[in-house]
Amino acid sequence: MTEENRPVYERVLKGGTVIDPASGTEAVLDVAVDGDRIAAVGEGLADGAAEVVDCTGRWVLPGLIEGHTHIFQYVSQVGAPSDEAHLRRGVVAASDAGTAGASTFPAFRKLVVEPSPMRILSFLNVSVLGLIDFRFGELTNPDTLVPDDALATAAENPDVVRGFKIRLSEDVVGENWQMLLKKSLDLAEQAGLPLMVHIGETSEPLPAVLDHLRPGDVVAHCYTGKEHGILDGSGVQSAVMEARERGVLFDSAHGKSNLSFEVARPAIADGFYPDVLSSDTSARNWRGPVFDLLTSMSKLVALGMPLNEAVARATVRPARLLGLESEGYGRLEAGGPAHVTVVEETEPVVLPDAAGNSITAPRFEPTLVLHGGTEVEIAPWRGL
Ligand SMILES: [Zn+2]
Repeated sequence: MTEENRPVYERVLKGGTVIDPASGTEAVLDVAVDGDRIAAVGEGLADGAAEVVDCTGRWVLPGLIEGHTHIFQYVSQVGAPSDEAHLRRGVVAASDAGTAGASTFPAFRKLVVEPSPMRILSFLNVSVLGLIDFRFGELTNPDTLVPDDALATAAENPDVVRGFKIRLSEDVVGENWQMLLKKSLDLAEQAGLPLMVHIGETSEPLPAVLDHLRPGDVVAHCYTGKEHGILDGSGVQSAVMEARERGVLFDSAHGKSNLSFEVARPAIADGFYPDVLSSDTSARNWRGPVFDLLTSMSKLVALGMPLNEAVARATVRPARLLGLESEGYGRLEAGGPAHVTVVEETEPVVLPDAAGNSITAPRFEPTLVLHGGTEVEIAPWRGL
């Protein structure tokens, strides 16, 4: 083969609407891929390419990043299968939110992180036990919060541990919640990492929790329909807006029981979007009502969130939170790794929240997933 007639690019995703919030790109363009890299993003790249994928009418997105999930399968009763529930549905990197604690982390690393083709991270549970079984709160014995163990695990695994997690539900922390929250914040401060706080079943109203949080800490389940959520009689509480103002982050974390359309709809109408749009997938919900991250995105878009805002919160924003930007995740950029998720809108379907409401909305379906240039076999939507 001569120099002149060699294909210009190995594979070109042609004519889709590229939405790359990191660069502010939103236009019909081609994306050229050579090997494991994005070779170019632009117009008219398909000529001479070895393979052309027609993406007309579809969105070409950076490979999605799941900021909150539970994928410690076989060890934790709540663990969903990482690849089947995520990678094969368009997610190339995912952060497990506190399923593993210091005592179970070595198993998490060996059984989940290392074998997966995905990039997997952890917000380490502050309890050494982690979240093994929902019936038994991991902090009902407060002595299971061992700061030295959590700190040692974080220090030994900086490639995986990117924060800590505490569930502040009353049945997990009981009357010790302030003491346990303070200890968790202290250890997060020592490690220089954020703390994710699960709300939704707290014993006190949200402002009492927000008062403690630092810029960069994360409130999970911001659209929960349970008591002590973000709304008051007139909309999003001022204490929530003030916390956001000083840098506290909010994670939508749908989950089995923590997304209510009746909370999300007025909050979105108020312009209160989550910083991280996540599914909180687990063994308890990946066959419904959550299904996957794209379905969580479609629900919030159906409630009024602009698509590009939803994409940002499932790509570049979690990449930033998780320290993945330096590895090229969360963006579509020439020279960067070829992590790409191509999505089409399906016919409208009825989608449930976690509070007994439903909405009719187009579902978002992955049609092509590339992780580091490697094509992933897509799993069918589990709601079918
Ligand atoms: Zn969770």
